[in-house]
Amino acid sequence: MRENEIKKTKTVCTYCGVGCSFDVWTKGRDILKVEPQVEAPANGISTCVKGKFGWDYVNSEERLTKPLIREGDTFREAEWDEALKLISSKFTEVKEDHGANALSFISSSKCTNEESYLMQKLGRSIIGTNNIDNCSRYCQTPATVGLFRTVGHGGDAGSIKDIEMSELVIVIGSNTSESHPVLSTRVKSSHKLHGQKLIVSDLRKHEMAERSDLFIRPSSGTDLIWLSAVTKYIIDQGWADEAFLKYRVNGLDDYIASLDQYTMSYASEVTGIDEAELIRIAEMIHEAKTTVALWAMGVTQHSGGADTSTAISNLLLVTGNYGKPGTGAYPLRGHNNVQGASDFGSMPDKMPGYENVMDEKVRDKYEKAWGTPLPQEPGLNNHEMVEHIHEGKLKAMYLKGEDMGIVDSNMNHVHKAFEKLDFFVVQDLFLTKTAEFADVVLPASPSLEKEGTFTNTERRFQRLYQALEPLGDSKPDWQIIMEIANEMGAGWDYSHPSEIMAEAVQLADMFAGVSYDRLEGYNSQQWPVAADGTDSPLLFEDEFPFPDGKARLFPVEWTQPLQYDDEYDLHINNGRLLEHFHEGNMTYKNKGIKSKTPSTFVEVSPELADERGLTDGTLVRLTSPYGAVKIKCLVTDRVQGKEVYIPLNDTDDAAVNLLTSSRADKDTDTPVYKEVKAKMEILKDR
Ligand code: SF4
Repeated sequence: MRENEIKKTKTVCTYCGVGCSFDVWTKGRDILKVEPQVEAPANGISTCVKGKFGWDYVNSEERLTKPLIREGDTFREAEWDEALKLISSKFTEVKEDHGANALSFISSSKCTNEESYLMQKLGRSIIGTNNIDNCSRYCQTPATVGLFRTVGHGGDAGSIKDIEMSELVIVIGSNTSESHPVLSTRVKSSHKLHGQKLIVSDLRKHEMAERSDLFIRPSSGTDLIWLSAVTKYIIDQGWADEAFLKYRVNGLDDYIASLDQYTMSYASEVTGIDEAELIRIAEMIHEAKTTVALWAMGVTQHSGGADTSTAISNLLLVTGNYGKPGTGAYPLRGHNNVQGASDFGSMPDKMPGYENVMDEKVRDKYEKAWGTPLPQEPGLNNHEMVEHIHEGKLKAMYLKGEDMGIVDSNMNHVHKAFEKLDFFVVQDLFLTKTAEFADVVLPASPSLEKEGTFTNTERRFQRLYQALEPLGDSKPDWQIIMEIANEMGAGWDYSHPSEIMAEAVQLADMFAGVSYDRLEGYNSQQWPVAADGTDSPLLFEDEFPFPDGKARLFPVEWTQPLQYDDEYDLHINNGRLLEHFHEGNMTYKNKGIKSKTPSTFVEVSPELADERGLTDGTLVRLTSPYGAVKIKCLVTDRVQGKEVYIPLNDTDDAAVNLLTSSRADKDTDTPVYKEVKAKMEILKDR
């Protein structure tokens, strides 16, 4: 291809979990435009602002193009050979001195399935540890656990088209129109044009709340209570789906007994929602032939995140809303490949396809394939890794494509942990906040410079094709992982990601019929995929993946969220903005996006503004027990009372994780990002 020729390459969006795919037009290294195609399975001809315009970061002057090796307080550029030899010798040294479990691996939800597979293979088969995790720990692991408990698969129950066709959509703790924009347009259009009903539960009156038929604002962290009360009311009224419960669900009696305390009056008292509104929710579910529930981090990032996710699934089981078109549970995955990172085994207790690391038969299968004994006990999750570094038990870490120093909670505590590591390798596109703590920084290639597959929130595999050559000496993550493994004697010889996928699908039954041929162009497959290539757009049509084929109602109890007090009298909520993605490492590199939303801010309510004398632009300091941020105010009725809201995209002195604590969901160790208390002082009027 000549430099001045225009090339069109099919790719998959690198931002959110909706998984929009489109053609990207390039000329040389210039990215000319993004052109959605009608055959794109998740989005058709739609994209949002990030997918359409958010690609400047690929050619940013800030891209890393050479490996960097620490020298004192700075880095020097190095050749790959030197960097790989240093990594290999340090990993070997730590393993010999402290054992395999003194090393840890963090995979990326922005990288491909093949890269997550190789990362866990490196940790398990070359080093000998299960200390491997990915950033789903920070967002959706509680939802995955809630679904495993009740229906046996940790993914969305159907497809985006099921959400579109459902008679009733319940959105809980999800700012869908900004976090999953193209998916939200499907709901908006069904609601506006086809009579779909919409219920929203959130602290903040965002766009979906504005559009809803019923909007409730339960006190922070109390969703489990109203969900359980509504479920109990439905059972008490005789509105449960008796046939579904009889033939397809276990555990009804124990579950009903567990609901005793969740009366409407108790729920109203704790959540602050009128009983009449809670009864109306029950009536709307009863009136709808089909219901779907969508949720995100407003549910999961709480002390009882897994239990609330379970309560959502319990409600859907009681009302028979699984296994039919237009029904089911939809935890909306955040990153483009957060689903795939877990699917392909970057978890401390699960091999690819969610097989248990403690299962001897599973280990035996992998040991035969990989030719080496594997660790038998589950490893550390990323929350535990931080604590083990502080305790001096974890000595080395290899982290790719994750700015953990910004996105993990209580970032001051995390930074102190990084400082204690004996050896730290970070692999990324940029010298991120996290990379500043590294001993070796490796330059990786973004999605447009490599091939592979991503899995979106619908469990849908899609191929991405290479549009550009890697910039400078940067390399695709799978190649870097392979080179580290080979430096340590692995002898891996993958020449293309399709060979990695072919190996993975031979081992993980859940993906048996996935192949690059079947994923050619805009084709896609939704797991589980049978060996003959038959995939599963809708789960649970005939049975649930438990030994007797029945789902399980799972009793849960409410966990009181963090309490606020006279000193720290504000509750900080946080989440995404449409224009930026997470910490903003990629989107802030885009001139257009940056000019529209150059920095973050704190939303304050009109009541709080009146009380404290705040106007748009007032500079305030917010201080929690863990840190402080300086930030400008935006007065808006999206928030009320002493609830304030900070978009989470800031890499500097307004990063919300300067305020968050190390407290975590009791079942999954997901940080309770949504339970933050703080006090405010005015630094400068506008
Ligand atoms: Fe990308 Fe998500 Fe926007 Fe689609 S909705 S273009 S996947 S960020």
